[in-house]
Amino acid sequence: MSAVIIDGAKIAGQVKERVAQGVADLNKTKGVRACLAVILVGDDPASISYVSGKTKALAEAGMADRSIRLPATVSQEELLDRISVLNADDSVHGILVQLPLPEHIDSRKVVQAIHPKKDVDGFHPVNLGNLVIGSRSFLPCTPHGVLKLLRETGIRTDGARAVIVGRSNIVGKPLAILLARRDCNATVTICHTGTRDLPAVTREADILIAAAGRPGVITADMVKPGAAVIDVGVNRVPDASKKSGFRLTGDVDFEAVKEVASFITPVPKGVGPMTIAMLMHNTLEAACLSCGYGLF
Ligand code: NAP
Repeated sequence: MSAVIIDGAKIAGQVKERVAQGVADLNKTKGVRACLAVILVGDDPASISYVSGKTKALAEAGMADRSIRLPATVSQEELLDRISVLNADDSVHGILVQLPLPEHIDSRKVVQAIHPKKDVDGFHPVNLGNLVIGSRSFLPCTPHGVLKLLRETGIRTDGARAVIVGRSNIVGKPLAILLARRDCNATVTICHTGTRDLPAVTREADILIAAAGRPGVITADMVKPGAAVIDVGVNRVPDASKKSGFRLTGDVDFEAVKEVASFITPVPKGVGPMTIAMLMHNTLEAACLSCGYGLF
């Protein structure tokens, strides 16, 4: 039997509706309008497209948008200055710098310059550290979105074997920590390019999460029958039949894997919309925390 296809766009829509309600409540009760500043450096087409998705979601949620666009030639010093102005501005609750940045800019310094209370991406070492020790923090949006998808779909994590392919600081590692926390209670394995016999490891997974950024790296023979497969990958592959010249595809061979798995996320409309929805959630949380409003 073919897998249930998880409708990430629908679940993200529900999250965004709840956020919009929270934004309206906060505004009515405290007179505070939740506000995010997205900083985009340069003109990478994928980054432009991600940022436009975020600014559209801000408008839909009724949040203020203080986004800034800077040329690829901007100096690191100027970028850090811009962040420090936003850090000091009480009307801005969240700050996000779209990655990747041009090579002359040290991304780590930039991420660390954002005040942890405004770090709605959850990439600051203080937030990642709090995540590891189980203290309150902004959860990184994509891992948080994956958890939400699992919960809303009724996929049990308690006692499950979860295998994550990818160990980046923004997806693989934080997701592994979240899934291993007591509230999820999964037994987690992280794979990477040094993993020996990847298919043997992935076949052990009740929940298989692909976050490698390699189109089709997960094939049907790597999936245990009945597993839930979450595809985080977003890859642009050339496609002459498309006006843009490319199409988006995940890391999973979707057509073949859906015949083996019990649940599967598509690309697009799987994890992607959840990332934006959780960013909206974090921005509302930051705004509530800034004025002691007890939504969170
Ligand atoms: P990344 O920093 O490039 O990390 C990729 C990870 O995958 C690395 O740990 C790498 O191993 C591992 N890997 C690559 N090829 C592999 C292979 N053949 N076998 C086993 N492991 C392999 O990527 P990222 O930033 O985490 O992003 C991963 C993917 O998710 C990308 O396609 C990205 O566009 C997508 N993404 C989507 C969203 C969303 O909202 N849907 C958000 C963020 C990212 P090594 O460490 O050994 O190099």
